Amino acid sequence: SDHALTYPVSPASMDWSQHYPAYASKGNNTAIPDVEEAGATQRVPKMSKKVEVADIGCGFGGLLFALAPKLPDTLLLGMEIRTSVTEYVQTKVKALRTQNAETQPMAYQNVACLRANTMKFLPNFFEKAQLSKIFLCFPDPHFKARKHKARIVSLTLNSEYAYVLRPGGIVYTITDVEDLHNWMVEHLAAHPSFERVPEAEQESDECVAVMRKETEEGKKVTRNNGNKYVALFRRKENPDWP
Ligand code: SAM
Repeated sequence: SDHALTYPVSPASMDWSQHYPAYASKGNNTAIPDVEEAGATQRVPKMSKKVEVADIGCGFGGLLFALAPKLPDTLLLGMEIRTSVTEYVQTKVKALRTQNAETQPMAYQNVACLRANTMKFLPNFFEKAQLSKIFLCFPDPHFKARKHKARIVSLTLNSEYAYVLRPGGIVYTITDVEDLHNWMVEHLAAHPSFERVPEAEQESDECVAVMRKETEEGKKVTRNNGNKYVALFRRKENPDWP
């Protein structure tokens, strides 16, 4: 439950250095504004880069590990609610960094995973317009109508995605459940901050191929000869609302 989840009070108070130590400056700490205001002097290490890509419900991290070498100058973050799965990804990140330490010291330094309930605390982690990409890969379908409120695409959550995404940033969705695909398309299309990315552009985006091939769920669906439904939505520059 939530009380066992740790999350920052604000993006500025998040200590990213433990997740991306290669991008943390040593000794050059920065004050946390809201903590400072309260009279405290808590500081977090300054980072040379901010997280730009979030994989929501990353599972075992297949997408992250495939994207990390393709986006070597971008910090990628997996967010996962299950403790054991989060720990698996964190252990794998450490192992890949160690394996590459001598030949490619920056390899996999740009990828990390933390435990979070993204339905509740997303704006605690990211500032407005911080992200360029959000991945929603094979989210839990929650088939029953009374469970639809548990889906990670909804008008409320889409406003949070719109808030943390920069104008021009993209929400990537993929699922093997046609009903969920239609639901995500309907809710994202209905949101004033998003417009659908045309299919030709979608298919030329290298992240789409990775999403189909490298996610654990994507591999499972391929083995079972299932369909994969993809839809991309762009954060508009000047939405009518909000
Ligand atoms: N994205 C991965 C893939 O494509 O292989 C995993 C897909 S799996 C079906 C859905 C994942 O979302 C699970 O690992 C689940 O624990 C996670 N999840 C569900 N609700 C979540 C939430 N509110 N916050 C973070 N992760 C969540």
